[in-house]
Amino acid sequence: MSLDVLEKGKKILRVEADPAVAENDSDDEFQDDSEDEFQDGSEADEEEAYEEVNPHPIVDFDKDDPPMIVRSTYRNMSEFKLALCQHAIKHEFEFNTEKSSQSRFRAYCSRKVEDNCPWRLHASTTVDKCAVMVKRNIFSHACSITRRKKTTRNATKHWICWKVKDFLIQEPTLGATVLKKKIKEHHKVSIPYHRVYKGQQLALKQLYGDWDSSFNNLFSFKAQVESSCPGSSVIIDHYTVSGKIRFRRFFFAMKPCIDGFLNGCRSYLAINSTFLTGKFNGQLASASAVDGHNWLYPVCVGVFDSETNDNWIWFMSRLREAIGSPLGLAISTDAGQAIIAVVAEVFPKAEHRECMYHLVTNFKKRYRGKVFDEHLWQQLTHGTHTCLRSTGLRWRKKKLLQLII
Ligand SMILES: [Zn+2]
Repeated sequence: MSLDVLEKGKKILRVEADPAVAENDSDDEFQDDSEDEFQDGSEADEEEAYEEVNPHPIVDFDKDDPPMIVRSTYRNMSEFKLALCQHAIKHEFEFNTEKSSQSRFRAYCSRKVEDNCPWRLHASTTVDKCAVMVKRNIFSHACSITRRKKTTRNATKHWICWKVKDFLIQEPTLGATVLKKKIKEHHKVSIPYHRVYKGQQLALKQLYGDWDSSFNNLFSFKAQVESSCPGSSVIIDHYTVSGKIRFRRFFFAMKPCIDGFLNGCRSYLAINSTFLTGKFNGQLASASAVDGHNWLYPVCVGVFDSETNDNWIWFMSRLREAIGSPLGLAISTDAGQAIIAVVAEVFPKAEHRECMYHLVTNFKKRYRGKVFDEHLWQQLTHGTHTCLRSTGLRWRKKKLLQLII
């Protein structure tokens, strides 16, 4: 299945669902070299001499200081590589990768030439191919610790991903700048912002899925909501091009939210939309009410590309299908021309008010000064019932001026 989604700078982007592609990271710092590199089997044969007798059991290793002594065993090559990166960062050295494949890994100290450092490490899969074992790590470092570079080449985006996951589970909105500081605090390494960002994105993808496949889950989401919460409204507006489904708009209202609004809230809805700022552009529209505690009460949300008449009519019509036309309904919106016309068209019996925040913002674009700053909100509060009726912005500004001056 493929869906059209809206991406920055492009009106339409076709997204093809392909889990294999989604998993494949072309910028993979751990991208393994081909097994062909091991055609010369001399070193490989040498390693076989280190037969895994009594391997260390695979247990949850110390994530801050993973063991790298001979026969230390890890669940797979990825886990071993992350552990080796952590080992290097913890012990303040850098390694260069000599050979890397799914079954073998060899590294040497980056100061091998400058300081004649003999440190080498070989690891490979066990005979049953179920784990990765350190087969050789017999030389200590001879390089000077004070001369080791303070760069952080081994702090790869995969290592960063590993380290920031716990932070992101607790607080998914943490940005790369904050994560950079946290890594510095915990591991004493300064990593360039762009690399932290890549690690953060990788971690978010592993924790919460990626943007493209999320769109492809929409129909499963709809089926699940309709099955577990009958009466809910999940509407996916789409069209078809060459037999492939393209996304256009989305509307979502849970049955309990609809019932709660109709039976437990005052007949008032605040409707607005905001920019979506993730990978894909568009608008997130919502209708919210106020409950008996004066708390915000969600009624429905929608997604469309921009605030056009057509999109607002579609959203409002779906809202009307969900809630009907409650007696005494008042709808508050901003002063967008599209939404003003649409409210009158779809909810002709509803009272339409302009949101006070937007009214003040628009008012202050033309009328500024101390007198307005000091009295505008106060006068608005007093005069709201007489001047905020939807009979034209110009009239309201004139009326406001009379109230204030
Ligand atoms: Zn060394």
